Amino acid sequence: MDGSGGARTAWLYNEWNKNSTERDAGNYGYPADGSGNLPQEVRLFHDAGVHVGTHAIGDRAIDWVVDTYAQVLKEKSTVGLRHSIIHANIPTDHAIAEMVRLETNTTQLTLSRKRPFMWWIGDTLRGKFLALSAPLG
Ligand SMILES: [Zn+2]
Repeated sequence: MDGSGGARTAWLYNEWNKNSTERDAGNYGYPADGSGNLPQEVRLFHDAGVHVGTHAIGDRAIDWVVDTYAQVLKEKSTVGLRHSIIHANIPTDHAIAEMVRLETNTTQLTLSRKRPFMWWIGDTLRGKFLALSAPLG
């Protein structure tokens, strides 16, 4: 479900920004998976007892992944099975709450944050993430 923060392809609810103050009109990114089959794919592995790690950047992509994990875990809770979200850049409040709930109550979710990744691309992302929640003129 990755897209890129640098290339503004990560899947978002709102349009991307560019150059710190400009809106990238019409660009919401897109789900890199593209098939729409992520829930079925996750369920297939989950039901077989296999951990799933999904790369996800962008609030909409992350919600899609965390809600998929929550759904399959609700349908079939499996002790010791830990799915993961890799990157998780710019999650929604909903995603953070679900991550905490799944980690705290079931220990069935883990985040794989890439600190060196954020270190090296942080300046690139700054101009694109800064005003995501603030209306532009
Ligand atoms: Zn990735």
